[in-house]
Amino acid sequence: MTTELEARALHLLQTVFGYPAFRGQQADIVNHVASGGDALVLMPTGGGKSLCYQIPALLREGVGVVISPLIALMQDQVDALEEVGVRAAFLNSTQTFEETLRIERLVRTGEIDLVYVAPERLMTQRCLDLFEDSRISLFAIDEAHCVSQWGHDFRPEYIRLSILHERFPDVPRIALTATADQQTRDEIAHRLQLDDARKFVSSFDRPNIRYSIVEKTTGRKQLLDFITTEHPGDSGIVYCLSRKKVEETADFLNENGIRAMAYHAGMEYAKRAENQARFLREENIVMVATIAFGMGIDKPDVRFVCHLDLPKSIEGYYQETGRAGRDGMPASAWMAYGLQDVVLQRRMIDESEADETFKRVLGVKLDAMLGLCETLSCRRMRLLDYFGEASGPCGNCDTCLIPPVSFDATVPVQKLLSTIYRVDQRFAAGHVIDVLRGVQTDRIGQWHHDALSVFGIGNDRSEQEWRAIVRQTIALGLITVDHEAYSSLKLTDAARPVLKGGQKVQLRQYQKPVKPKRAFASS
Ligand code: ADP
Ligand code: ZN
Repeated sequence: MTTELEARALHLLQTVFGYPAFRGQQADIVNHVASGGDALVLMPTGGGKSLCYQIPALLREGVGVVISPLIALMQDQVDALEEVGVRAAFLNSTQTFEETLRIERLVRTGEIDLVYVAPERLMTQRCLDLFEDSRISLFAIDEAHCVSQWGHDFRPEYIRLSILHERFPDVPRIALTATADQQTRDEIAHRLQLDDARKFVSSFDRPNIRYSIVEKTTGRKQLLDFITTEHPGDSGIVYCLSRKKVEETADFLNENGIRAMAYHAGMEYAKRAENQARFLREENIVMVATIAFGMGIDKPDVRFVCHLDLPKSIEGYYQETGRAGRDGMPASAWMAYGLQDVVLQRRMIDESEADETFKRVLGVKLDAMLGLCETLSCRRMRLLDYFGEASGPCGNCDTCLIPPVSFDATVPVQKLLSTIYRVDQRFAAGHVIDVLRGVQTDRIGQWHHDALSVFGIGNDRSEQEWRAIVRQTIALGLITVDHEAYSSLKLTDAARPVLKGGQKVQLRQYQKPVKPKRAFASS
C-alpha cells in the first residue's frame, strides 16, 4: 500500500523530472528523508543521488540546502533544475554582492526550493544566521567522503559540518557519496554525527563497465591501440599522474588522429573551464587529465576511462572508472600498469610529509590496489569485495574473458630473492635482472657480479618476464624498494619462508601483449 507521501513523491518524479519510476533505493530514501529522518546514502556514480534530496526538498516545507564542494558545477546544477521548473540558486564566491543579497532574500522569504552552498561559505556567521532566520527543509551534504582525512578529496571545512547537527537539531540531514569502503563510511557517520542515521547502501556494481588491466610496455602506444581498436570515434577520459604526462599524452593522441584535450590544475582557470565545457558538449572527444578532473562531471556517453598510471587506491580508481557508461550502455575501464608504477607509488608514500600512521594507511590502500592488478580471479569480484559486497565471477572483465594463466613461481622467486641477497641488497631492479640473466654490463664487471653463483641462473626468461616477476614479488610484500638508497631491492621478513623452501609462490604468467579483440561495436 502506498502512503500519501509516497504518492506525492512519485507524482513529483513523473511530472517535474519526467521519469516514470524510482530507481533502486531512491523511493525508500526519499520517503525516509521527506518524513524527517537522517540518512547516509552510498550509491555509485551515476546511481541517481541528486533526486534523493531534490524530491524531499520539494515535499517538505522550506528551503533545501545542498552543501557541495563543486563550485564550478553549481551553475549547471541550478540551470538544470530551473529548466524543469524547480526554483534553485547558489551562494558562492563567484557572485556579486547584489546577487548574494537577492538570493539571501529569496531564502528568507522561502521563495526558493533549493540553494547550493560551498562548505566554506556555509560556515560563515552570516550564512548560519541566514539559515537560522529561514525555514530549512533539509541539509544535503553531497560528496560526503570529502570529510575523510584519508581520502584524496579531503576538505578540512567538511569536518566542521557537524555543527549543523548542533545548530539545527530538527532539520533532517542526508549525506551522499559514491565512495564507500568501510573506513570512509564509518568516518562520514562519525564526523558528521550521523551515527543514528539510516544507512542506504546500494550495490556498487556497474555491470556495463568492462574492466581490464594490462601489463605496461609502451604505455602510450598501447593506449592508442586500445582506443583505435575498441573505441574508435568514442568519447573517453585518460588519467595520468603528472601534468607533464597529461600534456604529452594529449599531444601524442592528437598527432595520431584522436581529438584530445588536456586538463590539470596547473592550467589557467579559463582554459580548464573551456576544455571541460567542450568535453561535456562535444562527441568523439578525449580528455587527458590528472585526477583534478571529474568530480561531479555528468557526461552520460563517456565510453572509456583509461589509466596510464596506477591510482593510489581502489576508491580513487573506482570513482574515476565510474565516470564511464553512466547511460548504462557498454563501456570500458582500461589500465596499463607496470613495475615502475609500483616503485613510484611506494616512493611517493615514503617521501610524503605524512606521519607514520597516515603512511601506513596509504600503504594498505596501495596494497589493495596492487592486489586488484595482480589478481588471478574476477576483477569485479575483487572490487565489490573491497566495498563489502559479495558476488561471483562477472563474465565481463579481462580475467573472466581470458583467464590468466598462473604458474608455480617458487623457483624463479627463490632465484630472484637469492640474487638480491648476493648483491648485498644494494642494487635496483634493472641490475638485479641483468645478474639473473647473465648480461655482461660495465656495472656487472665493475662489481664482479659475473663471479657470483647466481650470475645467469635466470637466463631462461626474458627481461620483461623478470620485470613481471619482480613487480608481483613487490606486490606480494616479499621485497621492498629502498628509495633512500638508489631504489635498491631489499628482502622483507616475509621472504624468509620462501627462500628456505617452506612456502610456495603462485604468480601470473607473463603474457606477451596481443592485439585485443574488439570488445563490442561502438555506437
Ligand atoms: P549521481 O549523483 O549519483 O552520480 P545523478 O543524480 O547525477 O547521479 O543521476 C545520474 C543520471 O541518472 C542523471 O542523468 C539522472 O537524471 C538519471 N536518473 C536519476 N534517477 C533516475 C530515475 N529514477 N529514472 C531515470 N533516470 C534517472
Ligand atoms: Zn569478471
